[in-house]
Amino acid sequence: MADRRLYSFYRGLFTGDVLNFSKRSPFVKEIMFERVYPAKIILPMKMHSGVPAVPAVKVDDYVRVGQCVGVPAKGTFSVPVHSGISGRVTDISEIRLPNGILTPAVTIRNDMKRTRLDSVRPRSGFKLSAQESIGIIRDAGICGMGGEGIPTAAKLRRARTEVVKDFLVNCLQSEPYSTSDLVAITEYPDYVVLGSCACARVVGASKCIFLISENRKEQRKALSNSIEKIKADFKDLEFEIKLFRERFPQGYYRLVARALYGKNLAAGETIEKACKAVVFNCSTMLACWEALSDNIPMMSRIVSVTGDSSGGHNMLVPIGTPVSEILSNAQDIKNGSDMIVWGNCLTGIEINDPENTPIVKTTSVISVVRRAEVPRTPCIHCGLCSECCPMNLSPNTIFEMLNQGLRQKAAEEGARDCIACGSCSYVCPAGINLTTAIASFAGEGRIIEINSLLDNSSAEDKTSEEMKTSYVGEASLLEDYADGDEDRSVRSPDAITLPFEKDKEV
Ligand code: SF4
Ligand code: SF4
Repeated sequence: MADRRLYSFYRGLFTGDVLNFSKRSPFVKEIMFERVYPAKIILPMKMHSGVPAVPAVKVDDYVRVGQCVGVPAKGTFSVPVHSGISGRVTDISEIRLPNGILTPAVTIRNDMKRTRLDSVRPRSGFKLSAQESIGIIRDAGICGMGGEGIPTAAKLRRARTEVVKDFLVNCLQSEPYSTSDLVAITEYPDYVVLGSCACARVVGASKCIFLISENRKEQRKALSNSIEKIKADFKDLEFEIKLFRERFPQGYYRLVARALYGKNLAAGETIEKACKAVVFNCSTMLACWEALSDNIPMMSRIVSVTGDSSGGHNMLVPIGTPVSEILSNAQDIKNGSDMIVWGNCLTGIEINDPENTPIVKTTSVISVVRRAEVPRTPCIHCGLCSECCPMNLSPNTIFEMLNQGLRQKAAEEGARDCIACGSCSYVCPAGINLTTAIASFAGEGRIIEINSLLDNSSAEDKTSEEMKTSYVGEASLLEDYADGDEDRSVRSPDAITLPFEKDKEV
């Protein structure tokens, strides 16, 4: 199943033993899978790429676990927001997230009773068409958990339209200190594999390929075992595990396209069109299977909490949990004068108000790291930034051009290809923050790309009155797919059958 070849891209960052927890056995032993029950959650209505959701509750409303508290505005493409706790709504106001996004947010005080919506329960004995599956995934509020938070339903639709052959599951977590995806595989390998199989069928792919670092032996074994168990139920799919060298940022889709298909995607070019492949993060696949099989919307996620002078934790937390609550559950992580970083220490953002900064759908790690006081000097032309850039750019040259306002020249030099990996700033001995300037320039182009993806999805949504009108009251469309709903039982030719049909346990 696993071919012996090792895939990778050129350059990138080798964080080595200093940052690579996978090689630190004491850390592996320290991993405790903890569950956090916060006193309150703050749910931003925009945690994804696209239009913010609109609060669907009022102050003082009682909310249950799994309840939809934010719905997409009519006629727009967005994803709903659900509560991972039960309790009362105490506030609805605008907040600014560390990434600068200003968004309405719903604050809910936890009654610690964990009263759930009746509809949040496992399905049994049913078949779903591809369109129904996409509807469930959309209404479960699922967006990519490993990157920009692109709504998963939109990406599935685009992959269907492009008739992709390979369904790639990104298990290549390579950011320093972050092991949340790897823990998702270790703890729930069957769900990751089943979610991948179901979504591969949704898009009509013929191969399901898991991409993983060669040194993640435990996770490789877990995936292999699950595939062996499950493959008889997905006979039309071929399975493969492809091994990659461990380096940062290995899982980015353009680097995957280069390593697997030998294609250098231009900025704006999609892997779906160029390689007939689509890449999804493994934690996103876990969330998809929870929605398809158990009717669980995206309301919690695994977050790594760790730093360079302390142990590591992986916690299952309701989305919206304040960072301070997470840190108080990790007593060994001292943050006195250290930086608290929302995200990983290469691309994350330092925060100063952990009480009011929530975990969002795309937060895979909270890093607590020593403040490195690198004296800022002019560029010494050491070339380190160019050596590590995975996109083969010359960050120092581009940085200078942007500083001088030479935007057109910077674009010609490839600046739009920057993937904001943070490697150049990390290695720069002169302490120059190259990433912020280059990545924001490149980001302007990326916004246009994402908007075009969402616009296409929006056009498709407008043809479906059922979907638009289903966002009423407290419930999401999830409830419309409850067992025995005859109106929705019309099967498209590409219907997928979930393997626990006929009382089969997985
Ligand atoms: S220029 Fe962009 S892609 Fe290259 S190392 Fe810097 S942040 Fe990463
Ligand atoms: S790493 Fe820093 S000092 Fe070295 S060439 Fe790049 S910008 Fe200049």
